[in-house]
Amino acid sequence: MPDPRPLSAPESFHVLAKPTGPICNLDCEYCFFLSKESLYPGDRFRMADDLLETYVRQLFEAHATASEVTIAWQGGEPTLMGVDFFRRAVGLTARYARAGQVVHHTIQTNATLLTDEWCELLAEHHFLVGISIDGPPSVHDRYRVDKRGNPTSDRVLRGLGFLGKHGVDFNILCTVNAANQDQPLEVYRYFRDILNARYIQFIPIVERDNESGFQEGDRVTDRSVDPGAWGQFMIDVFDEWVRLDVGTVFVTQFDAALASWLGIQPALCIFGETCGNAVALEHNGDLYSCDHFVEPDYLLGNIRQSHMVELLASPKQRAFGDAKRDGLPEFCMICEVRFACNGECPKNRFTLTPSGDPGLNYLCAGYKKFFTHIDVLMAMMAGLLRQGRYADEVKGVLARAARNEPCPCGSGRKAKICHGP
Ligand code: SF4
Ligand code: SF4
Repeated sequence: MPDPRPLSAPESFHVLAKPTGPICNLDCEYCFFLSKESLYPGDRFRMADDLLETYVRQLFEAHATASEVTIAWQGGEPTLMGVDFFRRAVGLTARYARAGQVVHHTIQTNATLLTDEWCELLAEHHFLVGISIDGPPSVHDRYRVDKRGNPTSDRVLRGLGFLGKHGVDFNILCTVNAANQDQPLEVYRYFRDILNARYIQFIPIVERDNESGFQEGDRVTDRSVDPGAWGQFMIDVFDEWVRLDVGTVFVTQFDAALASWLGIQPALCIFGETCGNAVALEHNGDLYSCDHFVEPDYLLGNIRQSHMVELLASPKQRAFGDAKRDGLPEFCMICEVRFACNGECPKNRFTLTPSGDPGLNYLCAGYKKFFTHIDVLMAMMAGLLRQGRYADEVKGVLARAARNEPCPCGSGRKAKICHGP
């Protein structure tokens, strides 16, 4: 641990550790990780045990005064490391955590390799497991295929069965892409009613069409979500959620939006004013500015040579995070929903504003539509919370609306054809 701790180091930060680098047992067509293999030619892509210990030790040293620490694994497919690697990881966290410090274990997986043995470990240590699934098999299997091009939904559902059997908490990570963008309610209801999911995050696929696999160029593949369809997808899910599911189903984007309407920092980095506190750790100790920027220009250093807190505090990483705010075009600066959107993620800012300025988010049209649509009901929920009441009271307000009166959502339409009963 550097002595003293650098002043520019964030109090707390998030590391996405990738013990197998980009290596995965599947071959999802839109996956941006797979092309990253070329960064490390000839590599075995397995995190060594001594590096695992260095990582865990540094993470806890950097959070010595924090009451909670999250240790997060993703890939590629992290379960390819085998159960014993994670047993060692859990053992190390127990060794380095301070007495009384709460440790949260999370892992993101495609679920296809989960077994009883896996789920016993995950249950014992209360892992929160993020499952990548894009909806019912008919849409999930469109792009999420294995190395032979075969569908994977049956194996994902088998993995989910193991999680359920052992009582492991899971959340759904659903990409929204060209194949499912027009089926928001089918997708949402499948997760809520068939998979019994209570935590859901939607992730728009914006896949650059280039040879490098890096964040460059301004063309997207035809698998990418359409900006307007993305906005409508989120609107349709919101309209269902706000009538029926507030307080029982948690959609990451809606939680983040509510935080913005309350004037507090959303937990989702893409909607923050600045970023830079969520780094990616490769299998060999290389630390990158963000999981979406595992590219040579964004390599901060290697944790075998430099403590990760020094790399987080480095001028390069602070500038990376500040650029999210400082790089916004004027069009965003005067936007009415900037407080909630903040130009979203810099990785998607490759289009022009109406006046021709660079740096506008590809998804702008969708976000403008979505955040404008939810304004009145978000303000209502934020108001309830400020009064010490519960956000889910909004469901009652909508259910009690007179059918032929204007809908409480502010749309100007009659309640019966909007959010009303
Ligand atoms: S670049 Fe995007 S994903 Fe990465 S930390 Fe910043 S906002 Fe988050
Ligand atoms: S909605 Fe569009 S203009 Fe407004 S902040 Fe987001 S990206 Fe910028």
